[in-house]
Amino acid sequence: MRIEDAKTKLKARGFDVRKAPIPGPTLHTISKCRERCESNECGAYGVTWACPPGSATPGECIEMLSGYGSAALITRTYELDPRDRRAAEAAALQFQDDCRKAAVALREEGADIFMMADGKCGYCESCTYPDAECKHPEMLVPSISGFGIVMSDYVKECGREFSFFDDRVEFFGIMLLR
Ligand code: SF4
Repeated sequence: MRIEDAKTKLKARGFDVRKAPIPGPTLHTISKCRERCESNECGAYGVTWACPPGSATPGECIEMLSGYGSAALITRTYELDPRDRRAAEAAALQFQDDCRKAAVALREEGADIFMMADGKCGYCESCTYPDAECKHPEMLVPSISGFGIVMSDYVKECGREFSFFDDRVEFFGIMLLR
């Protein structure tokens, strides 16, 4: 599948989609992101296989992403009070679930893609982390930060501003296509 076809299919699912460079995390950006993850402001650290420390190692992050040839930035905005943590978490899980469904559909059409999104994995009612391997690796949508991608910098590389709002929250996903 060509990147333009994949982008059209993502747009049809209601995502805002734009062309993006292949993210190139370095040991420095991975370390910077992991420091932030460890502060656990989002409550997702060490909870599922989608986020550090259970997600891909720094070396795996760099190697995995370098194998793809094109990328798309996926966004959706939810009108809610960003201080309402419960509503923001529910929207994040909804966004991630929509990214998961889009990834599954694209793979079913033969596209060799890798999907990442904001936040922890919410696929299973109870995650196996850390006691056993992920039960549904095909449904796992890893965290963008866990891959050492500094989203504010990456969004600018995509030619956009990275902003915070008082009345809405924007979530991000990245789709890579081989
Ligand atoms: S798919 Fe299930 S087991 Fe795997 S990371 Fe997500 S919640 Fe955990």
